[in-house]
Amino acid sequence: MIARVSLEIALRKEFDYLIPPALAGQVEVGSRVQVPFGPRKILGCVTALVEESARANLKPILKVIGAQTLVTPKVLKLARWIGEYYCCAPETALKSVLPEAVRKEASGWRERLFVRALPVGSEFPKLPKRQQEVWNIIEERRELPLQELVELAETTAATVRKLEDRGLIEIASEISERDPYAREHILPSQPLPLNPAQSAALEKIKEAMDKLLSTPNPQPSTFLLHGVTGSGKTEVYLQALAHALEQGKGAIVLVPEISLTPQTVERFKARFTSGKLQTLVAVLHSHLSAGERHDEWHKIRQGRARIVIGARSAIFAPVEPLGLIIVDEEHEHTYKQEEAPRYHARDVAIMRGQMESAVVVLGSATPSLESYYNCKRGKFALLELPERVDDQKMPHVRVVDMHQAARGEKGIPIFSPQLKEAIAQRLERKEQTILFLNRRGYSTSLQCPKCGEVVQCPNCSLALTFHRQEQKLACHICGHTEKVPSVCPNVKCKNPAIRFAGAGTQRVEETLAKLFPNARIKRMDADTMKRKDDYRKVLGDFRAGRTDILVGTQMIAKGLHFPNVTLVGIIYADLALHQPDFRAGERTFQLLTQVAGRAGRGDVEGEVFVQAFAPFHPAIQHARRHDFIGFYEQEMEFREQLKYPPVSRAALLTLKGHNEEKVKFSAEHLKRELEKVLGEFKDLILSGPAPAPLLRAETFYRFQIMLRTRAMSKLSHTLAKIIGTLTLPDDVTLAVDIDPADLG
Ligand code: ADP
Ligand code: ZN
Repeated sequence: MIARVSLEIALRKEFDYLIPPALAGQVEVGSRVQVPFGPRKILGCVTALVEESARANLKPILKVIGAQTLVTPKVLKLARWIGEYYCCAPETALKSVLPEAVRKEASGWRERLFVRALPVGSEFPKLPKRQQEVWNIIEERRELPLQELVELAETTAATVRKLEDRGLIEIASEISERDPYAREHILPSQPLPLNPAQSAALEKIKEAMDKLLSTPNPQPSTFLLHGVTGSGKTEVYLQALAHALEQGKGAIVLVPEISLTPQTVERFKARFTSGKLQTLVAVLHSHLSAGERHDEWHKIRQGRARIVIGARSAIFAPVEPLGLIIVDEEHEHTYKQEEAPRYHARDVAIMRGQMESAVVVLGSATPSLESYYNCKRGKFALLELPERVDDQKMPHVRVVDMHQAARGEKGIPIFSPQLKEAIAQRLERKEQTILFLNRRGYSTSLQCPKCGEVVQCPNCSLALTFHRQEQKLACHICGHTEKVPSVCPNVKCKNPAIRFAGAGTQRVEETLAKLFPNARIKRMDADTMKRKDDYRKVLGDFRAGRTDILVGTQMIAKGLHFPNVTLVGIIYADLALHQPDFRAGERTFQLLTQVAGRAGRGDVEGEVFVQAFAPFHPAIQHARRHDFIGFYEQEMEFREQLKYPPVSRAALLTLKGHNEEKVKFSAEHLKRELEKVLGEFKDLILSGPAPAPLLRAETFYRFQIMLRTRAMSKLSHTLAKIIGTLTLPDDVTLAVDIDPADLG
């Protein structure tokens, strides 16, 4: 027998190897194997077993890695689709479906020494005091890791060994699972009685699941669960998950990385524990150690965990059979991977659901235009939860015109008088406030008032941000840092009075501390959240009421709900409106709605202040009225007119290199090549080449071409062919992004 193997080095080709007699029966489609490649030994994945090969003198497979096939045939099929649709090398697609910790042979199971009590005979020996103390602990626990015992009893391994010599205990090496949540004490939770809207939604989902179970060739069923913040979507997910388990099926729950807080994970773990209080939920995300990720993944592969909750890449978890996929906050653009393979986890979820006859539920308070459009066209079924549970009211949103607030002031103020007063009120009433600004650092630029010079990053076409605590300027694209100049860096000017402009979260925090010296203020952004536990600590303090005001970036925009927060302030609401991206309005609407949803989750009605320079912009006005449909209709007019997604699908081709002229020239060459072969696409719109919105990033110049059509699968196919034959200068590279989420 011969195995066809896709190697981990991207060669866009597969190679045949012999299966040696010693490995017969162990090599299957999906097995990970080590094979010789020239002088090297390389890892790869078996994609097919064949009888004959076109080549003679095949070399044998060296070894099989892991007792179980790692890539199941179903996941393999999904990886193939990703390679084709997202126009990337099959090896690249295949690599992304296994976590690094599982792919690498090194991080295997961890073995530890365990101490176990043996049955005691009729005569229990009289033990010396120390040994007796150690025994007491063992007797109570029956079994525990040696290390833990030594720490607990404040003793040494030698003392424990003495008990072994007496035949009282056994010390043996066992696999010990690394459980990232071992320290949490999670109390089991019971299903809540649902309100009518929740029940109706759940019934529809269950009905579809039952239908898929009984019909051999069922229709794909994808739902969009549109429910305002706090409408109880999660409870619907939980009960749908329970139904999947009843059917004997497993499930995947995707949440954005940022909302994978212990709080979220706990809600799922609390509902699903088996008899021995063993959790049925495995968690996959980037904050786990490699060992933890390895163990969680294998828990799923072995079927001990039936529900997976995780970020983007958890969509590839080897759950079998799969009954349900949930994508929470489906509009989040972090579901899109920004490096090859540039897949969108929501779209992969829908594809996987179709391939494996699983129901897919997309949930959001602010659905993506793509998903809502699919409902309108009848591709998805719409489920709605229009109201918050427990009759909580939606918060009252006030829009403050910042031009008016700036009148009579020296510069642009951070706080309007209205917001200032509202904060003071909350402090007095001992209620909590969240202030949101999607810009970290102290000030966003350093500018000379005399010559207008702005201090720029030497590698990117972007102004440097001033970070006050560290006393340095930093680039938020490439991470470059430098000292703050004492005079204007323009040699002809050298004005000593340079000025900081534009406020970031550091400055908000500082100004706040001056205005309200007695308030307890905490800041949450990428600068303050460096260690694993920071997040938990700051939120814990806030929940416990040890913090009055929480200032933060998008980190605080979602998922959190604190009953005592009655005020949310959005410092500059229109920052995102001015980005050169057709989704700028959509992003702004989503962000405002999500942030506003943090207010009024308790008994007191919440209040939101939106400070804006364009207070009448539709994205802001519709968010103010919590009016998703109104926003959708207005925004779709614009998308229709310009044929932007979701009316069409887009592909973004970005060329980059160090020589600006060469990059531009290559882009023009590529466009001519495209024009030659794409005539058959009747609805194709080919635009560019144009400099990327951020022309220079990390020292590279970038030019872009955008293609729009409805027939994207066909276009990807054609693009792959063109790219295969295209010759570019050595120092110019091309990246293809199908369905781009970010045009930057
Ligand atoms: P969403 O996910 O839509 O933002 P959640 O599921 O977090 O909303 O629900 C908000 C709060 O309401 C949670 O504390 C949840 O426990 C509670 N809740 C949800 N459904 C019900 C229900 N049917 N009855 C009572 N409380 C509920
Ligand atoms: Zn930079």
